[in-house]
Amino acid sequence: MRTRRAALTAISGAAALALTLTACGQSSSGGSKEKTGDVKGATIGIAMPTKSSERWINDGNDMVKNLEAKGYKTKLVYGEDDPSTQVSQIENLITQGVKGLIIAAIDNKSLNNVLQEAKQANIPVIAYDRLILGTPNVDYYASFDNEKVGTLQGTYIVHKLGLDSGKTGPFNIELFAGSNDDNNTQYFFNGAMKVFQPYIDKKQLVVKSGQTKLNQVTTLRWDGATAQKRMEDILTSTYTSGKVDAVLSPYDGISIGIIAALKSDGYGSASKPLPVITGQDAELASVKSIIAGQQTQTVFKDSRKETAVAVSMVDDVLHGKKPQVNDTTTYTNGSKVVPAYLLQPVSVDKTNYEDVLVKGGYYTDSQLK
Ligand code: BGC
Repeated sequence: MRTRRAALTAISGAAALALTLTACGQSSSGGSKEKTGDVKGATIGIAMPTKSSERWINDGNDMVKNLEAKGYKTKLVYGEDDPSTQVSQIENLITQGVKGLIIAAIDNKSLNNVLQEAKQANIPVIAYDRLILGTPNVDYYASFDNEKVGTLQGTYIVHKLGLDSGKTGPFNIELFAGSNDDNNTQYFFNGAMKVFQPYIDKKQLVVKSGQTKLNQVTTLRWDGATAQKRMEDILTSTYTSGKVDAVLSPYDGISIGIIAALKSDGYGSASKPLPVITGQDAELASVKSIIAGQQTQTVFKDSRKETAVAVSMVDDVLHGKKPQVNDTTTYTNGSKVVPAYLLQPVSVDKTNYEDVLVKGGYYTDSQLK
């Protein structure tokens, strides 16, 4: 968990971003009636996917702080990675009279009916981090540039193997992707594959298992144990000779599972070093693993900034203003293009974690010991 100091920095960081968003002047009036009176002290419902991953706990906490700083009350719920639980939680929030909803979906296609209820109750909906598909009843999308996350992971692997500086390999790589019901999964995977493809074509990168298609490499609900099992199976079936040089992992919890499988296969010694292994979210266990020389990289997506964007969006909509967006083309949800504000992710490894995560106030040095 982050410390109080980090939490305070988070508030001021979020406040600064909120100010920037407003100062950018793009939050112009949408023309609808000023609803300030109606929304003062209103309750915003926040539906998060799971507490089993630290990132969503941070997001939930930061969201509450940012909303309270703007005078809202909050109801925060976690669906424990069960789509039907999330649907009934959102139904309850609507019944309890929330004035806005911020939702990080578990299954991006399971929310159509409940969001129809939100629409009927005139409740604006912000899709948080993960786009909600197949419904017109999602107003805005707050996220990171998801393809860039994959680009950063792919570029890191290519660079670390030396492929961009004259080495030709061939290097063995195995590919892992996220949950198939999360819209982000394809963006992360495609971002990395675009980087790998020229090297795969030249046979400088070889996916020895042959599992290169997204539907062969997804990991339901981003589960680390599922990824561990798949890595074990690949090691047994494919690496009776040769070794794994790199693993594309989309998320820190998955990376931890992959590392466990590799270590029980004898990786992690001087004669059989661990491969280059990416990740995402800069979760505490993975940052420690990076410092210890096991996981190699992660992608940091600052929840303080992402929550500030979502909170500004819901606040603007409730005040009849048009939220600031910076992407109106990428995120088609099958029903409409959802206007989005996308933040920039940052690649973190042993060389820059101190600058990005510690100096940035996300973790203290003592947390990383
Ligand atoms: C988020 C990632 C996270 C993953 C697993 C994705 O939708 O964008 O940050 O690692 O879910 O929780």
